[in-house]
Parts: sequence; structure tokens; C-alpha cells
Amino acid sequence: MIAPPTANGRQRIEAVECPHCTLRSEVTIPDGDLEPKVRTSRALFGEYSVVNCPEGHEFWVYFC
Ligand SMILES: [Zn+2]
Repeated sequence: MIAPPTANGRQRIEAVECPHCTLRSEVTIPDGDLEPKVRTSRALFGEYSVVNCPEGHEFWVYFC
């Protein structure tokens, strides 16, 4: 999974561990200063991505 380059060039890819099976999935971080935080439930605020791991688990990654 390769993200296209962005205008500001700050986007980056990091691997995060699935909280259910610890397999790693890649997530695109929209800003290089942010750190990905894995969550198993949806929050009502903040920037996040929904990630599906290779085993089919769905979890959320927040950027903070
Ligand atoms: Zn998983």
C-alpha cells in the first residue's frame, strides 16, 4: 500500500499493530508531526483512519 505523494510532502507511512492479532498494517499519517495511536473503538473527534488488518479485524488509528 503506497500513498501518493502530497502537496506538502509531510505525509508518511507507518506500520501499526492490530490490537486483536498483533499483525502489522500500514497506515498513512497525514502529517509528519503526528503519532499514530491504535484504538478499538470509535471516538467522536480527531483525525483517524479505519484500518483492516490481514486477518480482517477492523480498528481505528488516531493521530495525535
Ligand atoms: Zn487483526
